[in-house]
Amino acid sequence: MMFGRKHKNPIKMHDKGVVEWKYATCGYCSVGCSIEVGIDAKGEPVTTRGSGKADVNRGKLCIKGLTEAELFNTPGRGSEPLIRNKTFEPWQQTDWDTVFKKSAAEFQRIQQTYGRDAVAIVSTGQILTEEFYSLGKLARGVIGTNNYDGNTTLCMASAVSGYKRSFGSDGPPGCYGDFEHTDCLIAWGSNLTEQHPVLYWRLKEAREKRKFPLIVVDPRVTMFAQFADMHLPVTPGTDLVLLNSLAHVILDEGLQDEAYIRQSCNGFDEFAELVKQYDPTSAAKICGIDEDTIRTVARLYAKADNAMSIWTMGINQSTHGSDGVCAINNLNLITGNIGKPGSTSLSITGQCNAMGTREWSSCSGLPGYRALENENHRKEIAEFWGIDEEFFPTKRGLFMTDIFPAIETGEIKALWVIATNPMTSMPNSGRIRKTLENLEYCVVQDVYEDVETMQYAHAYFPAAIWAEKEGVFTNTERRVNLITPVKKPYANSKADFWIFREFSRYFESPHSDGKMPHFPDTPKEVFEEMKTLSHGIGPNGRDRILDYTGMSYENIYEQRGIQWPYRKEDADNGIEKGEARLYTDGVFQFPDGKAKLLALPYVENNEVPDQDFPFWLNSGRVVEHFHTRTRTGKVGNCNKYSPTPYMEMNPDAAEELGIEHMQYVRLVSRRGDAVVMVQLTQRVPYNMVFIPFHFHDCVNRLSLGLLDPYSRQPAFKQCSVRIEHVDQQEAAQLNVEMRAY
Ligand code: SF4
Repeated sequence: MMFGRKHKNPIKMHDKGVVEWKYATCGYCSVGCSIEVGIDAKGEPVTTRGSGKADVNRGKLCIKGLTEAELFNTPGRGSEPLIRNKTFEPWQQTDWDTVFKKSAAEFQRIQQTYGRDAVAIVSTGQILTEEFYSLGKLARGVIGTNNYDGNTTLCMASAVSGYKRSFGSDGPPGCYGDFEHTDCLIAWGSNLTEQHPVLYWRLKEAREKRKFPLIVVDPRVTMFAQFADMHLPVTPGTDLVLLNSLAHVILDEGLQDEAYIRQSCNGFDEFAELVKQYDPTSAAKICGIDEDTIRTVARLYAKADNAMSIWTMGINQSTHGSDGVCAINNLNLITGNIGKPGSTSLSITGQCNAMGTREWSSCSGLPGYRALENENHRKEIAEFWGIDEEFFPTKRGLFMTDIFPAIETGEIKALWVIATNPMTSMPNSGRIRKTLENLEYCVVQDVYEDVETMQYAHAYFPAAIWAEKEGVFTNTERRVNLITPVKKPYANSKADFWIFREFSRYFESPHSDGKMPHFPDTPKEVFEEMKTLSHGIGPNGRDRILDYTGMSYENIYEQRGIQWPYRKEDADNGIEKGEARLYTDGVFQFPDGKAKLLALPYVENNEVPDQDFPFWLNSGRVVEHFHTRTRTGKVGNCNKYSPTPYMEMNPDAAEELGIEHMQYVRLVSRRGDAVVMVQLTQRVPYNMVFIPFHFHDCVNRLSLGLLDPYSRQPAFKQCSVRIEHVDQQEAAQLNVEMRAY
């Protein structure tokens, strides 16, 4: 019986005429899916599919990966270098020689007039690792500014800072395979289903095979929270209180792993003294989670044979983001949940190669997790690059979030923005707009010539996109994976790798005897340099953890990605995989090998709702979009699902204010205002609204973005707003203009 279907036409798949599949790694999020790009007879990319052999995604892709072949010909691609004397004047098309000559001359003029650090460089988490390494060589070894950072300060800086403070080094200790071994998982401020869909599928599959408790901590009833066994709707910005309280219960009830603490941790006494103050009764009043639930979760986590925590921006984007990460690490250290299958702290990174910049870009130090503050590291890199050691500063310069205030005060006069879009992504965008007007010279290097930050630029370097280039990315679980060029760069755009190498030739040597670092001709040669630098002894006297020496483009491709550390000895001995986990022996990266348990007092310093601004403003991602929509806003099948800046609002609150579903409203904060369409949903509580962060001139007109003291990451998710009625026709017109690409 066909139930009426036998006369219907079967669904026909459009034959895209693929004649060849070329290999890459997805260029969006940090899950790092292996992807194959289908090429037609004319050599054009026409479709994508997940690589079935890849351990990460096992053939799957989310909507962004599935539509990635459309990227190559999206509107707004930059085809030629552009130049102009003043902002807001019309752009002049030019050639690479002219734009390089002019930009190098301007950078050098400004450095000679105001000092070396008056030129700032703000980079990204989205170019290839070999490109990051080359940019670091140019920034640190030739241009010589210390005000060089990446947009990872907006997303992962707290995780980096927390790993360093707890374990002595950056580097996520766990892997996706931990889902298959854990007995309890807490997800902190992570909407995995939308932010990292293929990773959510891995988790779901693991839970279907072997049921274990999933607890989601999030102020909002996210899609992920709906799938959880327990949802803890924590009060925004108070996760540290909840974490300290969980530790309180664990110690109070003697559930800690004494042997692990004795063998592998310092700082227990001070930590134990601090968490005494966070009894569940008192903590519940601050974090909004009742005391019985706190006790239940603490017992569940501590008694599980293997427990793990994952987190994303709900923890990182906070005034105590770094402390929140350390508190997660504390929880895992006192319960002995690090370095075993199913037992870990695992930050889920945002951008496809945020890990690559952390490892190799020299943004926060020197390549390969080396520090500017360490004399031996400065010496080692100066010798390797063939430059003067004294040229390096002895401590890191400004973070991205401090670079903009330094432009505002006139300390910085020139800015080179690479593959990021601060006009949309930085908090308090009204202030950022005003700040950028102060620049004497600004270069934007991007795939697209219509990114919002271009309004303030004097020069434009058109960059090639994603798989028009060759090199590697590192994903969240330390897996290095390959991107092969599936087609030539669009028009006269160039690989970022080419841009860094060629631009370096326009600077005079700042070193004695005219020395200059060597910029190799191919990404593969750069990869070999990185491999050499990855070998050696780490701060704890053992082999460095960030070791690539066993890798080659060939074996990375064969394995569809290899996790570091992967040492030459491993490769020589026929071992095909890198190490899945760090700290398996309980030895950490501090000189004595012990991790630090940190006493982390909670300080209430955020903007909270009051009579004038009675709603929490929360922000986050939706599955169809990535970052500031420079790419997904132009891919039809991504944009059409979410084309409009909208706001989730609780129906009861809406009714009280006389607001209806799909109406436009104006949100007002102490910084500015934004017009959004209302979507009524019980996902948000009565006193909270939520807006996806991707849209220009939207949530960041409102956000405050107080900075974390360690990571300098902004608290994007916590500020207060009020809601006002607007003329519906005027708002609809504004919306049409904003959507027009
Ligand atoms: Fe790409 Fe992330 Fe989607 Fe995988 S989950 S296809 S890496 S965007």
